[in-house]
Amino acid sequence: MHAMVLNQLGTPLEWMELPDRQPGPGQIRVSVAACGVCRTDLHVIDGELPDPKVPIIPGHEIVGRIDALGSGVAGLTLGERIGIPWLAHTCGVCPYCAGHQENLCDRPAFTGYSRDGGFATAAIADARFAFPLGEAGGDVELAPLLCAGLIGWRSLVSAGDGRTLGLYGFGAAAHIVAQVARWQGRTVFAFTRPGDTATQAFARRLGAAWVGGSDETAPERLDAAIIFAPIGALVPLALTAVRKGGRVVCAGIHMSDIPGFPYRLLWEERQLVSVANLTRQDGIDFLRLAPQIGIVTQTTRYPLAEANQALADLRAGRFDGAAVLVP
Ligand SMILES: [Zn+2]
Ligand SMILES: [Zn+2]
Repeated sequence: MHAMVLNQLGTPLEWMELPDRQPGPGQIRVSVAACGVCRTDLHVIDGELPDPKVPIIPGHEIVGRIDALGSGVAGLTLGERIGIPWLAHTCGVCPYCAGHQENLCDRPAFTGYSRDGGFATAAIADARFAFPLGEAGGDVELAPLLCAGLIGWRSLVSAGDGRTLGLYGFGAAAHIVAQVARWQGRTVFAFTRPGDTATQAFARRLGAAWVGGSDETAPERLDAAIIFAPIGALVPLALTAVRKGGRVVCAGIHMSDIPGFPYRLLWEERQLVSVANLTRQDGIDFLRLAPQIGIVTQTTRYPLAEANQALADLRAGRFDGAAVLVP
């Protein structure tokens, strides 16, 4: 197999040939057809997350077909198309696992962070944490649903069912969430980097009722806001934009420090929460709903060997939607 490997934090990924791996008990091996590139991959590579496994193969939006089954795998078949998400394993016994919050498991494993991921021609996964994808839709177009879609969905649920929704940072996740929110009948307000007229036009095409810079004021008070951009300074701005009792959801795994702000921004029962990881139920719920909504992902394809270019383009905001690597 071949893979783009992070051998040292903060350095470019390296193209490597590795011995083929065999799935262990309960595992599947997938021949990778596409793997999305997520901002979390940048956080892993930059060393912004604690205790990374290095060397590591990043990538946690994997679409592929099962080409080997480990012992004891039930309900999946060779050749079946499968999605492998960020959540790779949970302990099953900690209080969070026992309480339907496996996203907060005390001893979890994550694809492309603590276990090798999908920037490769093949990937191994725990069968119980993989999602059958069926045959509808293209591999590349489906890949962003596996994290941008799933985490976006969890964030949207967390935001509550208010009518007016602000999205701060209009990248891969927001471009999917905007479609879900519009389908639900909500009004979407998209906040981008000030002056980023290309992304603002993109958000408008996806049904945003209003677009503007994060330094601008929306024409209506928001019932809720979701912050996808990893910028702590957006938190007080979003709290300013939501109504009394409104909710601000921080969707990312990492954010720059949040600057101090006056208590009055939080007062009047505004809520500030975060979303962490996903549960398998999130995946089941969202992947069942996605075809009904008719979500169309906008993707930019890169050959697997050009993963570093895809990451650089993501960092610089050089494409709209999501980057996807194709082996
Ligand atoms: Zn657990
Ligand atoms: Zn991700």
